[in-house]
Amino acid sequence: MTHDPRWLNARFKSCCKDCNSIINKGDRIFYYPKGKHVYCEFCGKIHFNDFQNCVEMEAFC
Ligand SMILES: [Zn+2]
Repeated sequence: MTHDPRWLNARFKSCCKDCNSIINKGDRIFYYPKGKHVYCEFCGKIHFNDFQNCVEMEAFC
């Protein structure tokens, strides 16, 4: 799915939606196409785990 969140390398400077830490160009980020939210690597891992859990739950249904 194209709307699934994914890991990317930042193409421009921004900041994490959760902790407001600076994201520099080239940093590893977790990106949500829905809403264009960007998370730093640390917060991204938390969201990535949440997302994986959701996918697994959907698979069981
Ligand atoms: Zn963060």
